Formats: sequence, structure tokens, C-alpha cells
Amino acid sequence: MRNRVAVAFAVFIAGWLWLDARAQSGEPLVSGAHKFERITNGIYYATASGTMQVGANSPVIESEGEAIIIDSGTSPAAGRALLQDIKAVTSKPVKYVIDSHFHYDHLFGNQAFGPDVQIIGHDHTRERLMVNTMQQFTFLNSINPIPARLESLRQRIATEKDPQQKATLEQQVKNSLAYQEQVKEVRQTPPNLTFDDTMTIYRGGRELRLMYLGRGHTDTDVVTYLPAERIVATGDLMESVISYMGDSYPEEWIATLEKLKALEFDTVLPGHGVPFKGKERITAFQNYLRDVIVQTNALKQQGLSAEDAALKVDLTKHASMFPQIRGVGIDPAVTRRIYHLAQDPNAGPTP
Ligand SMILES: [Zn+2]
Repeated sequence: MRNRVAVAFAVFIAGWLWLDARAQSGEPLVSGAHKFERITNGIYYATASGTMQVGANSPVIESEGEAIIIDSGTSPAAGRALLQDIKAVTSKPVKYVIDSHFHYDHLFGNQAFGPDVQIIGHDHTRERLMVNTMQQFTFLNSINPIPARLESLRQRIATEKDPQQKATLEQQVKNSLAYQEQVKEVRQTPPNLTFDDTMTIYRGGRELRLMYLGRGHTDTDVVTYLPAERIVATGDLMESVISYMGDSYPEEWIATLEKLKALEFDTVLPGHGVPFKGKERITAFQNYLRDVIVQTNALKQQGLSAEDAALKVDLTKHASMFPQIRGVGIDPAVTRRIYHLAQDPNAGPTP
């Protein structure tokens, strides 16, 4: 009996060392629905492994006694998966979840964290979650196109010859079908600890400065700045790719990003995309925003509808930095938003 316990313990330790070695090596560690990239000692970046729809990427920060997560995922199931999957990189319990902003793909996992977990967010995030965001454009725009997306995936599966590619597409169908069920479980869970401008967490030698720098991607964006590690987690205020703009304040966003750039950091952990270094990409995104605003306003002046303007906005010159731009045109949610803000600069989320 004693031997068996010893063997089990040795196997456990070996497994743990193996996982730890993998995590140290720079190669992302796959655990369940997530992949974990080691950013620096005790700081990881969780992205989707592909086996379920998890939503935004989540930075994981270990302190002495606990783990702190930024963003809880796109559904309660995604939140539970994150809680389970992070055991591959930390044995510490999650005591804090920071909501980078109020969008569903960043915080519909909140309810998976127990009542002892502090869920921290901006005052406005709590306010925004007092109404049902599942009836607002941003969430509906994620869920309503699913049937059409499934149809197109199935057509591609029918003609796909490469078995590996086919399996990936089949997994995407499975994930979308599961997601439609998973969101039925959502009970909006707002932050239980909120702040206005800044709040600093000091835990086990770590300093996390939570900052609201102004309106941008939404009016709820919180960046988490770790001055000692020279890291900033930006949510969707700054992604490595082009951010969604349906609830944004584009003019103010440029100024807010200027404040972000004033912080001293080397590494950005964004809400979507991949971690990146330096400030060049932020400047490029500011230029992109400026261009979007100028072109949209010019088309509005010419009397075009927001939908027609969306077809004409040409951002292809920004494609070298943001390769997702593949041709002329922009998401009509962007032009509609800019048209709407011209009438009501303090508009809330797109209804
Ligand atoms: Zn967002």
C-alpha cells in the first residue's frame, strides 16, 4: 500500500515536472480547451486549443498565494474549462478575476467562479450588466449568424479532401452547436468589486495597476499594468488584430491609446490575437482609427447611408500591419456607430 502511494506520488511529481518543463520551454502547453504560453515567470497567456469555443484570450498571473485571471471566457462552460485547464500551469487557487470590459466573450464565464472569488471591473461594467446584454447587437451579432456559418462549414466539409482539414472543420461545427447550448446557461454576473479611475492590487510581490484610461473599445475598458514586469494586458482596447468597433468611441479611443502608450511596458497581452512587443502596433491602430473616422465622415457628408459607406471605406493601406484587411469595405457596425455618435456622442452600447 505504502509503495503504491509512493509510486502514485512519484508519477504525479514526474507529470508535474514534465508539464512545468514544457511550460518553461516556450512551446505552448495544451490543456483541455486551452493552450498556455509562458510569458515570464508565473505569467501565462491562455488561448483556445480548438476543442471548444472559449472566447477571449486570458492572461493568468500567479502571485504567492493565488492565481489572478483576466477575463473568464464566453460562457459558464468556458469559465469552468479555464478553471480546470489552468491546473496545468499553476496549483494555486483563483482568487481574482479581472473583467477587461463588459463584452460577453470576456465575462460570460464569471458565474463559473465561486462566491469567494473577487470579480473586479470598472463601475461601468457593473452598470452595463444591469440590463440583458444578450438582447443587444454585439451579442446577437455573434449568435444570429451561426446557422449560416454552419451551413457554409458543412458545404466545405462535403468537398474537403484533406482529412486533417476536414477534422478541423468538423470540430468547428461541433463547437458552434455546443456554444448555442452553452450560452443558455448564462446568468449575467457583474463584478462584485468595482472602481472608477485606478485600483492597485499588491499580492505576493506582484503589483497590478488596474487603470481606466478613458473611452475606447467600450466605456468599460480596464487595462492591467504590471510595472515591474513591464507587461500590460489591454483587453480589446488594443488587440494584435483589428478590434470590433460596434460599441466603441473611435475619436476618444485614439486619445485613450495615447495614454496607454505613455505607460512603460515591453509586452502587450491583448484580448484577441497574439502577445506583441512595443508601441509601434498601437500607433498603427491609432492611424487606422483616424482613417476610418475621416473616410466615414466624408462619405456621410456626401449623403451616403451607413451601409453604403461601409462598402466604400478603403483601409487596404493598413493591411501590412493588419493582414485581416483583405479588400475595400468595413464592418457596417463601424459606420453605423460613427453615424450614431455624430448624433449622440454619449450613446451607450448599440441596441
Ligand atoms: Zn470586446
